[in-house]
Amino acid sequence: MLKGIAASQGIALAKVYKLQQPVLNIERKEASSDELEKLENAFIKTIKDIETVKERAAVNLSEEELAIFDAHLMMANDPEIKDQIAFMIKDENVNAEYATKTVANNTIAMFESMEDAYFKERAADIKDVMFRLQCNLLGVQIPDLTAIDEEVIIVAEDLTPSDTAQLNKKYTLGFATAIGGRTSHSAIMARSLEIPAVVGCKNILETLNHGDFIILDAINGDVIVNPSEDDKKLYLKKQEEFKNEKEALKILINEKSITLDGHEVELAGNIGTPKDVNGVIENGGEGVGLYRTEFLYMDSENDFPDEEAQFEAYKKVLEAMNGKKVVIRTLDIGGDKKLNYFEFPEEMNPFLGYRAVRFCLDRDDIFRTQLRALIRASAYGKLCIMFPMIATLQEFRNAKAIFEEEKAKLVSEGVKIGEKIEVGIMVEIPAAAILADRFAKEADFFSIGTNDLVQYSMAADRMSEKVSYLYQPLNPSLLRLIKLAIDGAHKEGKWCGMCGEMAGDPLAAPILLGLGLDEFSMSATSILNSRKIIRSLSKADMEKLALEALNKDTEEEVVELIKNSLK
Ligand code: PEP
Ligand code: MG
Repeated sequence: MLKGIAASQGIALAKVYKLQQPVLNIERKEASSDELEKLENAFIKTIKDIETVKERAAVNLSEEELAIFDAHLMMANDPEIKDQIAFMIKDENVNAEYATKTVANNTIAMFESMEDAYFKERAADIKDVMFRLQCNLLGVQIPDLTAIDEEVIIVAEDLTPSDTAQLNKKYTLGFATAIGGRTSHSAIMARSLEIPAVVGCKNILETLNHGDFIILDAINGDVIVNPSEDDKKLYLKKQEEFKNEKEALKILINEKSITLDGHEVELAGNIGTPKDVNGVIENGGEGVGLYRTEFLYMDSENDFPDEEAQFEAYKKVLEAMNGKKVVIRTLDIGGDKKLNYFEFPEEMNPFLGYRAVRFCLDRDDIFRTQLRALIRASAYGKLCIMFPMIATLQEFRNAKAIFEEEKAKLVSEGVKIGEKIEVGIMVEIPAAAILADRFAKEADFFSIGTNDLVQYSMAADRMSEKVSYLYQPLNPSLLRLIKLAIDGAHKEGKWCGMCGEMAGDPLAAPILLGLGLDEFSMSATSILNSRKIIRSLSKADMEKLALEALNKDTEEEVVELIKNSLK
């Protein structure tokens, strides 16, 4: 059995289709007279190839998913890359293949070295386009996945974005790759295609041959090679159970998130871009509880996104949610999130430094542009604005005052705005949780950001593997901070949500319900399972459970308490 990471849940049984990309042998040679012409033709063919792949992929993919090919076409049409290659051919008198390989490697390395996960992922797209370009220069054929006409599980080193997009769900029952993690491109694509996938499965290429029969257990991250008849029976049964469970959850799409004793909460989705809204709607989300707007800023190439571009993005989300609540967080940049057009100052501890609302209050020109776009978009739905990383009431007052100024300006300009825009804070710094009762007098709502609240409470960098054992959202210390936030909000008649990872954790749901959390915001695919859990619990019982948990000594004890109570 081979072990990997379950990147997209499900079980598949089929023959192996071993996908091996051609190995390109490119050497430095002296330029001949037609290098530039060769380069031009290879670019033309590359663009044509991508258009063809896009056409074929359109059978399986939605407009949004096809957007990847538009990004590839943009890269293939980017004059800067072509100019760089042409410059090298002329300047160093080298062959087009070698110049292409050099420019490709430099560009890929630059993207891969970026700390930000989004940009790292873009390296896969550049690699994909540049590989195609090099194949076309050499006249080498790239394997055609659209030609597969029998049921298979694809096994590969990694799948490029265009490989994944070519997969025909009818024949591709799943895939396993040697490299990659849960956030790698192929993993994300597999989840959106709902194809079982195991990634990061070392030695898989050495172990498996084309035509071997395997079982892909993408629930546990296992690949079972040449299984026995008993294994096959067992996994066919597991496959059936998995499908039934998933199907059964669908009946909850339009149901309320209500406990056995009639207490209703709201289950919302976290999004990073407007297109993620579809997933929230398809999974029965009752709103958007966190729109991380920093991606808009990180996607922008040369400068901060202007008011119009932001307005369009926010409006899209509000319109798509059709009157349901949308919580948009103002710019949370800095720390590990950098911009390529803005130099943050060097700091010893960037996570404790110049970031999020601290940056926005300092650069209120940038902050005002975002607030204007938000306020204008408020005319199209139910908008809540929240400020990240609030530590003091003074920060909140300053941010709110800027909001009020921009709102007044827009009103005096005659711009149509929403009737009521709620303005709240993220509770992710312990100081804000402790003073929650005071914040609640002035803020319209809270959303607890447990990813950071745990990091700052435990003084444990959330990016460090060495101290990851301190990520303990169920530690009684954290539960007490969460209780302070929820009680503080309720005392003033305000609502309290949570948008950190803890909100979608099935184990935490009973305690959060018992503590009185009003809104749980999580990744879209967790919503239905959370709804099932909420509907199986009694609020009154969970209140007692939460009280007990608050009086435990350690996280282990809390976990044990919850598990025992759910038996
Ligand atoms: C959090 O800190 O819990 C949160 C939701 O924000 P982010 O993960 O974007 O820091
Ligand atoms: Mg945070």
